[in-house]
Amino acid sequence: MSDHRIQDLKVHIVNIPTKTVHSHGSGDIAGIKSVLLEVTTDTGLTGWGEASPWPVFTGTAEGNAAALHVHLKPHLIGEDPVLVEKHLFMADTILIGHPEAKAALETALLDITGQIAGLPIAELVGGRHRDNMPLSFSVANPDFDKDLEDVAAMYEDGVRILKLKTGFAGHQFDLMRLEKLREIYGDSLHLRADYNQGLAAYDAIRHLKDLEAFDLDFIEQPVKMHERTAFAAINKAIDTPLMADESVFNPREAIQAVQTEMCDVITLKIMKSGGIRRALEVAAIARAAGMEVYGGCMFETGIAHAAGTHLVAALPDLKLGCEFYMSTYYVSEDILTEPFPVKEGHVHVPTAPGLGVFVDREKLEKYSLQSFS
Ligand code: MG
Repeated sequence: MSDHRIQDLKVHIVNIPTKTVHSHGSGDIAGIKSVLLEVTTDTGLTGWGEASPWPVFTGTAEGNAAALHVHLKPHLIGEDPVLVEKHLFMADTILIGHPEAKAALETALLDITGQIAGLPIAELVGGRHRDNMPLSFSVANPDFDKDLEDVAAMYEDGVRILKLKTGFAGHQFDLMRLEKLREIYGDSLHLRADYNQGLAAYDAIRHLKDLEAFDLDFIEQPVKMHERTAFAAINKAIDTPLMADESVFNPREAIQAVQTEMCDVITLKIMKSGGIRRALEVAAIARAAGMEVYGGCMFETGIAHAAGTHLVAALPDLKLGCEFYMSTYYVSEDILTEPFPVKEGHVHVPTAPGLGVFVDREKLEKYSLQSFS
């Protein structure tokens, strides 16, 4: 217990334009529409959290704003902010789904708890195993020449991991891009492919076999989230490690993935699991089964990226890096007071107490579509 009590929750829906339009298989993206949560205490502390939904994947900004403002807020006013698991359990009890809203709530509560304890979130959830981690950038522009320019600039910045969004413009386009990247960069780049559920299950295997020659670190989510039998069949048929994204949100689905032997890697996202603590539970199941995990994200501002950074910093082992690139390379301008900490192709774990990054109030005003208080 602490001497602090939650005084208010403010919920802001923001829309931050991206630099260019991106194709991600299941949808085109021109802006990041996110929900920022601001929790204040009667002792003058402020904690920030973010719910970053994607309607074709997790949910909607409007639904998550209502989850926080209408359904969760009445149960939190006057409560002790450090009782994080108690509040998450309450959220799971009164509200089905909405993992992004629950992630936002957890981030804001851990931000406050960290400020009280004088410790960064990574330390609150087990302690950091690393100060930085290699960053992956996603290539998802329908105009591949523009992507090549971006990749060249990022290579210059020290980025050595690329994830191609595949399956949205035809198999030959995917093969051409992989060939071109290997031709230009040889083995100096780690390459991955993410289909975002984009292949038809009936002929996915023969397409994926064509990718084996490119020595990819993994192939991500080739088929629809519920096509688990096809997923497992693909895993048996190809040698390249297979990663589950849309098919594994939470610990329960991680157990199913182990039982059905459907993948070799699970991408952790706080927006899927409902926060850092649940993502660490997914990671524990994966580790016990000999699977790898990966630091994934949705379309996020630097607030959710920072929470994800604390999560992956606390993993005992991380072979495949993380993809918290949006704040630096994707949006026209982030919402933070200081640039998100990316240096020489690596994300650096914040060291200030709590989340360690802060919302710029002027930018919040500028990009806010709607606020609830
Ligand atoms: Mg994915």
